[in-house]
Amino acid sequence: MRRPLIAANWKMNLNLPQMRDLVKAIADAILARKLSDACDVALCPPSIYLFPMAKAVQGTAIRIGAQNLFQEKNGAFTGELSAEMVHETGAVFCILGHSERRHTIAHLEDDWMINRKARACRRAGLTPILCVGETISQRLAGETLDVLTFQLTAALIDNRPQKPDDLVVAYEPVWAIGTGQNATPQQAQEAHAHLRNTLRTLIGTAADGVRILYGGSVKPDNAAAIFTQPDVDGGLIGGASLKAESFIGIISAAASH
Ligand code: PEP
Repeated sequence: MRRPLIAANWKMNLNLPQMRDLVKAIADAILARKLSDACDVALCPPSIYLFPMAKAVQGTAIRIGAQNLFQEKNGAFTGELSAEMVHETGAVFCILGHSERRHTIAHLEDDWMINRKARACRRAGLTPILCVGETISQRLAGETLDVLTFQLTAALIDNRPQKPDDLVVAYEPVWAIGTGQNATPQQAQEAHAHLRNTLRTLIGTAADGVRILYGGSVKPDNAAAIFTQPDVDGGLIGGASLKAESFIGIISAAASH
């Protein structure tokens, strides 16, 4: 039985007082509604806020993650953060391979770089939230499942998780992120089942314990239908994680399945 995880990707949004208010509202709701009995929650702020957010969640059930890191341990890499530095803040997760880093931001990360970042996570004791997903042209060309196989397999070369908690996968169709156009529950389930089967060929039965999140325009009103799919184990939430009411609505949907 996999415990759902709802992870917030705040991207480059909010300021410190807004983040503190949001953490308090989320923590209060989790406590009042006993949501942590049935669901894990993580918040991924911009890196400069990792320390204050790790402090803000102390004594709550909320955990913290980074949005990115650099693969090397130390050295002349101006502006970058190592996995060890991220870990030292109190973060336990790190989003890797987000579509904005694969396709939008000038860095244009490829699968080899994402593999090295995933290995850096393992070295430092962080759990990667590994994002995979097809573009709209790949979907229209019927390539979705091949893209998912490739991205997942590439990230795990020489880097097999030893136990289910060593990895979280997030299926994030690129065409659904920030567009308001979510995948249907059936499309999500097809992709998630394929990812789990691919994981089984890579790591055996441990794949059955790995959480596979759906991400892409999840809102309180579509969350329940997606989260009830058998291979969907929660969500990676962008826009709707910036407001307490919508994020708490999504956590509640995950906790009630
Ligand atoms: C994301 O950026 O990971 C994401 C899922 O964004 P949104 O929920 O806004 O589509």
